[in-house]
Amino acid sequence: MRIVEIRERTIPISRYIDTRLPSGGLTTSLVAIATDAVHTGKRVVGYGFSSVGRFGQSGLIHERFAPRLLAAQPQALTIPDRDGLDPFACWSVMMSGEKLGGHGERCVAVGTLDMAIWDAAAKLASMPLEQFITERLERKRESSPRAFVYAGGGYLYPDRDIACLTEEIRRFLDLGFSHAKIKIGSAALGTDSKRVEAAARLFPGGKHLAVDAMNTYSVKAGIATAKALAAQDLWWFEDPCDPLDFDAQTQIAEACLCPLAAGEALFSLAEAKLLDRYGGLDRKSDILVFDPVHCYGLTGYLQILDYLLARGWPSSAFWPHGGSLFCQHVVAALGLGGAEINPLAFAPFRGFADGQIISDGYITLPEHPGIGFERHPEIWNALKSF
Ligand code: MG
Repeated sequence: MRIVEIRERTIPISRYIDTRLPSGGLTTSLVAIATDAVHTGKRVVGYGFSSVGRFGQSGLIHERFAPRLLAAQPQALTIPDRDGLDPFACWSVMMSGEKLGGHGERCVAVGTLDMAIWDAAAKLASMPLEQFITERLERKRESSPRAFVYAGGGYLYPDRDIACLTEEIRRFLDLGFSHAKIKIGSAALGTDSKRVEAAARLFPGGKHLAVDAMNTYSVKAGIATAKALAAQDLWWFEDPCDPLDFDAQTQIAEACLCPLAAGEALFSLAEAKLLDRYGGLDRKSDILVFDPVHCYGLTGYLQILDYLLARGWPSSAFWPHGGSLFCQHVVAALGLGGAEINPLAFAPFRGFADGQIISDGYITLPEHPGIGFERHPEIWNALKSF
């Protein structure tokens, strides 16, 4: 088994349904990894992307990580006496020569390629990714694999914000979602309080709406916001402050009546250890939103998961960021709390694959080998064209 070609292209990506609205120059990398294997007359190709909310990783992929995979001998990419690609072996090839620390965003470049490697490996095994992960990790598989999902969105609109926000939440509910998360922190507290109140009242009761401050607050602003929103009985309050300012986060956590969510902007096991030790979180009730793609891929995410489970965190505390089909497979395979979906924003990586159904908050997974991007018309249109 060899990897014979790796393609990458960085594309713009928008937080809004209307992609003309400015999104701070967000981009993501698309990657395709072609193997030398042919199934039913077609070359086996794995696809991935750099999740959302950060930026494309063209330079690091082209200059450092793709060349290592392309130069690897076949035995370095597989398990002895087994066919197909082994994602853990491929990960070691990508990380060869890398020093500890200095995570920067190389973890995103590695995670992007890692997603495509898992996709290719599952296709080579003729299994949906969820089944492939379950078997590779020798875990018990559910008879009807599914993932709990919630809708992510609710960014501040430049015009008619409350009207657009409430319309967006109504569309989430019409699609079958029972829970959602909206953004706060980019407007004054009085404005945010009004938009949270307007969104929360569309749900049948408390603990259905989470808010995400995207790391914007100082200690003072974070505590003021936690107190101002206490009456809304929120599902969780995410990323209130600088992700590495654990002192600030601890002070805000003490003032917050609802669960706190953290981890989206931490990208390594070393940082996860610090969060657990110094972040002021409660293992019984708080939420961890590490993004598997941004944390050196599923291989890096599993390092974090295994460490924190051993430290007493329940698997139900893990709600991977990213909103991707990839994360739905990860949640179903690992029995995690649930996955974010971006139903309307971040085209082409929004919405659902053909045949996916939400019922009682759970979504069915595509049965296509791999992640199933080929069953998602908007994504497949972007991937097949490069
Ligand atoms: Mg977030």
